[in-house]
Amino acid sequence: MSLYLDPAGYFRSPLLDQVEWLRHGFGTVQASLPGEPLCLQQVHSDRVVDSSEWTPGCEGDALITSRAGEQLAVKTADCVPILLADTEQKVIAAIHAGWRGTLNRILARTIERMGQERGSRPEAILAAMGPAIGPCCFEVGLEVGQEFAALFPERHDLDGRTRIDLSEANRRILMQCGVPGGNISNSAPCTMCAPAYFHSWRRDRRSGARMYSAIEITG
Ligand SMILES: [Zn+2]
Repeated sequence: MSLYLDPAGYFRSPLLDQVEWLRHGFGTVQASLPGEPLCLQQVHSDRVVDSSEWTPGCEGDALITSRAGEQLAVKTADCVPILLADTEQKVIAAIHAGWRGTLNRILARTIERMGQERGSRPEAILAAMGPAIGPCCFEVGLEVGQEFAALFPERHDLDGRTRIDLSEANRRILMQCGVPGGNISNSAPCTMCAPAYFHSWRRDRRSGARMYSAIEITG
């Protein structure tokens, strides 16, 4: 299921739109984030932070909450922004997954913690991935490519310069966690290919500009 652009300049997922108590959006260069979201000092780790533990400057790459009115946000420009919603337990999460976070299985850590602390079942979790650098543009050398061998066992080209599909890698991690394929949306546009919509770290590395993606329980 593809994302669509809303009038406020956010890409939205029809999958998450189905949840009536939820508001979400993946930022573009046009979108300005309303309110004051909770955001982490992102460090490409596997550290998951519950909103009750959050402090300004807190380091980590995934935020979880079940409190209404608490907006969770991640900043990206090529890394994959991932938004989760557990439709049974009413728990949400916002995740920042670049290639290092993907390999650190930040997404699996988040789902594990949602299960341990909130009773989330993977079958009840909806997952939407936002715009990120696509397999068309994400070229890596062998030292990075080889790290992805376990996620892409069918590939035999990872020992030289190659391209990696980070969204697909995260989709596979979700499937390994037990999230059904029909609960996953990972067909977002490539940030590097579309300068009219997105900042891209690889394309405009001097600017350092990031986009915000956010999710919130509205009631
Ligand atoms: Zn591209």
